[in-house]
Amino acid sequence: MSLPLPTTLSPSKVSSFKDCALAFRFSAIDRLPEPPSPAAAKGTLVHKALELLFWDHPQGSRSLAAALDCLGRAWALLANDAEFAELGLSAEEQAQFRHEADQLVRRYFQLEDPDRIQVLGTELMLQAPLGDMQLRGIIDRLELDPDGRLVVTDYKTGRVPPESREQARLGGVHFYAYLCEKALGVRPARVQLLYLAEPMSISTTPSDQSIKGMAVRAQAVWAAVERACRDEDFRPHPSGLCGYCAYQAFCPAFGGDPALAVSRRPGASKAPSGPGEARPDPTEAVRDALRAAGLVGV
Ligand code: SF4
Repeated sequence: MSLPLPTTLSPSKVSSFKDCALAFRFSAIDRLPEPPSPAAAKGTLVHKALELLFWDHPQGSRSLAAALDCLGRAWALLANDAEFAELGLSAEEQAQFRHEADQLVRRYFQLEDPDRIQVLGTELMLQAPLGDMQLRGIIDRLELDPDGRLVVTDYKTGRVPPESREQARLGGVHFYAYLCEKALGVRPARVQLLYLAEPMSISTTPSDQSIKGMAVRAQAVWAAVERACRDEDFRPHPSGLCGYCAYQAFCPAFGGDPALAVSRRPGASKAPSGPGEARPDPTEAVRDALRAAGLVGV
């Protein structure tokens, strides 16, 4: 008897497994739904507002006023979302939620000028093989910078992690660089994390060495996941993150029984939800744009 392997590995799954193997099992293998949280909903709202800014406003017209208008439209969509309703926020809490999202959008403008960005894709799902597994990630924004170089941007609406987690926060960056290189045929010149709450940006230039290092680490995590599935051995790793964990009721570290999680497995995986309709997969359009920019062969 063994547990089924997850079908893909993503940056969030890698860090979830490293943080706590048992929480990873509940999420990636048992596929237990996580209850909605105000922090996740706020992230969804701000991501949607910035996505609208880039698609609905051409370069030269992406002002703060336009972004706040986009936030208003994204808010109207979110307010009608069933998961948001589940949060049960009072009118006062909703006003605070809306105010904090407004602040995040305003601080975004302290980090960059959106008029200088030639956007190629947003919420772009890329997948590529690595050994016998599939890596998958969703890129918040893919663009050409003013010098015509490919850049990956990832928005963060939470706090900047401490310096001690420097490698963990950059791990996903190299993951995205690998996906671009394999799925689109171009290595990004730069990958940047925009921490809107601070505001603060962290960027790095992917290299042969950094991408190779990411591949080695991802394969090591995958081998550990395979072993844990084969042996049905996912151990709890109590830490400060337990306070945010949705699975305490099934966790032996909190007096729970992991076997009860099996009965809670959904019959089918649930599609991610958020405000608005998902755009069609734009990967081919991105490849065409990269060819037109001379970044990839015809
Ligand atoms: S409560 Fe803590 S130890 Fe238990 S599964 Fe969640 S993160 Fe892991």
